[in-house]
Amino acid sequence: MKIKIALTKGDGIGPEVVNEGIKILKTICDYTDLDIQFEEAPAGGNVWKETGESLPKKSVEIIKNSDALLFGAIGLPDIPQGVAESAILRLRQELDLYINLRPIKLYDSMKEQSPLKEEYIGKGIDFTIIRENTEGLYANIGGFLKDDVAINSMVYTKKGCERIIRYAYEFAKLHKHSKITSVDKANVIKPSQMWRNIFQTIGNDYPNLEQENYYIDAFCQWIIRKPYAFETVVTGNLFGDIISDEAAFLVGSLGMASSGNIHPGKVSMYEPIHGSAPDIAGKGIANPIGTILSIKLMMEESIKQPDIGKKIEKAVEISLNEARTKDISNNKLKILSTSHMGDLIAEKLKQELKL
Ligand code: ATP
Repeated sequence: MKIKIALTKGDGIGPEVVNEGIKILKTICDYTDLDIQFEEAPAGGNVWKETGESLPKKSVEIIKNSDALLFGAIGLPDIPQGVAESAILRLRQELDLYINLRPIKLYDSMKEQSPLKEEYIGKGIDFTIIRENTEGLYANIGGFLKDDVAINSMVYTKKGCERIIRYAYEFAKLHKHSKITSVDKANVIKPSQMWRNIFQTIGNDYPNLEQENYYIDAFCQWIIRKPYAFETVVTGNLFGDIISDEAAFLVGSLGMASSGNIHPGKVSMYEPIHGSAPDIAGKGIANPIGTILSIKLMMEESIKQPDIGKKIEKAVEISLNEARTKDISNNKLKILSTSHMGDLIAEKLKQELKL
């Protein structure tokens, strides 16, 4: 099967981690019937410095003509704030990537890296945050009145709520979850009240799924006190942004967490959740696992090859028992560079794919 993957390497550690992602994709190519072609679609701070645009039209075209986009990270400390980042916001709008999928999983071998005590980890952490990605306060409806007043409107539409909530129910069903959790602020905010009604109405179609609602403020502490209790968590744009960073910290390092910006059936974008981390760029110490696990999501959601996705995750788990990058090092296992960690995972994946 022929597949076209667009690559936006970006700034800082972006190119370093994407290069390891390419290694994984090439291994898949070598040991399955997927025939993957790559095309670079530059975006971000370095491109802005050269061309004055952080997301050139040509790159958008390349992305639109591909099956999926693997995205590194963008942002540079020496350019105006928000210039590079606007490329991501534009891509989300242009491709209507209304789903932001963020798995939060603490691998057994990573338990000692979690900031949580054992009693809070309980039977283990393994849940997915599904965040609405195009509406809410980030719809960018607002402005300034001189320097005295600043307004952003929190816009939720019925269509916007329905499609993300329906996706979350289907996701929970597909993954055989017993429970779905919705996070809002329905005691205060009108859009949240509409969200909660829609969550309940759609829930009638899924009588076998336990359904629960939390207010965002309470949920921020429950995600630390009993993270083991959640499976599928669905929420709006702002709340999802906050809790997904909070939750990512629980799994040991920012470098471990993956994400997908998805529109089912259309070109979707997969990226590690970390930024360009200029402080460690060029040192060869960035953790490539967030990027590699984003390819797992790509295989499941866009390429419809969940078995390959499972094998990628298995290869990561096995590798974590043997070696680590510096950010997740312990005293027992050897420390590898970004590129050697990528080699190790690619080698383990090769063994899994040959089985
Ligand atoms: P952004 O706002 O773009 O998300 P940020 O400045 O908030 O960026 P990051 O760039 O993600 O945050 O990095 C924060 C810190 O986490 C970095 O300074 C770096 O030390 C660490 N870090 C981030 N990603 C990785 C990684 N892949 N491997 C190792 N350490 C990382």
